[in-house]
Amino acid sequence: MPTAYDIADAIADRLAALDLTALALLEEQYQGILDRLTLEIERLEQDIEAQPKRGQWTQRRLAALKDELHRILMQWADDASTIIELEQDRALRNVRDETRNLIIGSLGDVPIGARLPGIIVPVEALNSLIGFLGDGSPIRGYFDDLADSLSERLVATYLDGMARGLGPKQIGSQVRAITGEPLHRAQALARTATNNAYREAQRRIFEKNDSLIRRWRWHSTLDSRVCVVCWAMHGTEHPTSERMATHWQCRCAMLPITATWRELGFDVDEAPQPPIETGPERFARLSPAEQRAILGPGKLALYQQGKLQLNDLVGIYDDPIWGTMRHEIALKDLK
Ligand SMILES: [Zn+2]
Repeated sequence: MPTAYDIADAIADRLAALDLTALALLEEQYQGILDRLTLEIERLEQDIEAQPKRGQWTQRRLAALKDELHRILMQWADDASTIIELEQDRALRNVRDETRNLIIGSLGDVPIGARLPGIIVPVEALNSLIGFLGDGSPIRGYFDDLADSLSERLVATYLDGMARGLGPKQIGSQVRAITGEPLHRAQALARTATNNAYREAQRRIFEKNDSLIRRWRWHSTLDSRVCVVCWAMHGTEHPTSERMATHWQCRCAMLPITATWRELGFDVDEAPQPPIETGPERFARLSPAEQRAILGPGKLALYQQGKLQLNDLVGIYDDPIWGTMRHEIALKDLK
């Protein structure tokens, strides 16, 4: 029988595969947007070349460009939101069965004389998660801000380049460096939106079955891509009323901590559970080179001197989209 860890890892793999499809779709679609942005910018270059007196004319031309860039980006935002919604929807489609298996896996083998307790699925609470991204959601606002700030920065880069006497080629390459940003941010959003919707659905199932599920445990793969926050959080226990307040693009899972068979009212002998090694305990066993790759040299030095624990690096902030989230505290901000 697979353990809860195996099941959690299988879920993470499935979500990651979904992610890849959505990320590729977003990229494919953004290519068209990039072509249009580039075309607008090239047109501007030609117009500027052809214009002997610039001044006022340039201001007007740049204002028109800014509006056009904004319009193109907002059209893209509609399509990108649809891709993200579909991905979330696909992730949520399996959440009931997968969470059920996860709970059963956590209960362990059913002892003789016991039977599996029923698991209640809060259908309405799960349905309300679909459309997490509908009109009026903070994700719409995120795309609005993205379109605003990008069109403004593109124009500012232009003005700045011209003021510094740069040629169209140099300015063009600076501008192109910015135009890739919306895609990366949309991809980060897609990943975070899917994982957060999935985890929140799980949490609602955990919460609904509180006689069976006592708490949830933070589970990280602790591979080379895992950040300091998740190294610190791995193994921590949380009430089922608490959302998993993690960082953008986190791949960690919530594992249910189930009641023992005895607590569930069956008079059976149970093997004692092996203790869970926490993230900081496991981190302490890594080689200095591995620790350095995760912490960086400055923080590693403090860690080695015993002046810094992993937990000291976990900060909490209020994210405009996701509410309470965690982030890694920068070296300069450590008290
Ligand atoms: Zn994580």
